[in-house]
Amino acid sequence: MPLPRGLPVVDHHCHLSPHGEGVRAAERFRAAGGTHLFLATQNYEASVPLSLETYARQFETTWLLAQKVHEEVGVRVYPVLAPYPIDLVGACSKLGAQGALDLHCAALDLAGRWVREKKAVALGEVGRPHFPIEPEVTTIVEEAFRHALEVARDSDCPVVVHSADLSADGFLELAARAREAGLRPERVVKHYTRTRVASGTTEGVVPSYLARRELVREVAGGAGPWFLETDFLDDPKRPGAVLDLATVPRRAAAVAADPSQGADRLYVPFVQSVERVYGWRPEVGPEGAAE
Ligand SMILES: [Zn+2]
Repeated sequence: MPLPRGLPVVDHHCHLSPHGEGVRAAERFRAAGGTHLFLATQNYEASVPLSLETYARQFETTWLLAQKVHEEVGVRVYPVLAPYPIDLVGACSKLGAQGALDLHCAALDLAGRWVREKKAVALGEVGRPHFPIEPEVTTIVEEAFRHALEVARDSDCPVVVHSADLSADGFLELAARAREAGLRPERVVKHYTRTRVASGTTEGVVPSYLARRELVREVAGGAGPWFLETDFLDDPKRPGAVLDLATVPRRAAAVAADPSQGADRLYVPFVQSVERVYGWRPEVGPEGAAE
């Protein structure tokens, strides 16, 4: 069953690399019916960034890839920029705790500037490593996270959070952290959510669900806001580490074709949730390409 005309098909979190498939992966997404990508930046170099110039170059690479995909493939790409929280671990051993924190906060300020200049739509990924870290690093991770939430508040944008899997209490803690920093929890997205979160239990924090078949089936009827994502890594050395970029459009087609579900349900993750969290609507033109 074809997807309804005019319905955007949105992957809320992926990565693309100039050293990976890049634009070719976006072609696969488009061929499967995808229209819009939220493209999270990443470190494209072999070692951890140790200067602000390196972060500026990284953000530039993400932005250029976004333009290229739009021009060559007709998929609209929204850059999501921030220094990766795990960079703090490597930078701490090279620059010391204070040096690593200062660099990280400067890179967050830079990302906020890009958002205010409309060259990015959110700060991400921000948050905490998903593995145990030294107490010294924990201290700067928490400081950096607070700064990220404040920059999002001042830049009037959402944050996309990287962290270990969260329990219901973990979502509440995240909401409390955001509120403390003056950011509405409704602007906080927990990326890579792998189990269904009952709506109304997160005090506004928004799950972005990994688009595994079973999970999509489970969440598709739920009230929004929530998103679907692949966290596609575009890393030829790690094929299959996460879902392929064609997954969200394929799952969308399956939801539309399932008589117990139906295409109407797709407006929640692809239209209403984007509107609620980001404040605008992804548009699809008459040719089915993103505008
Ligand atoms: Zn990611």
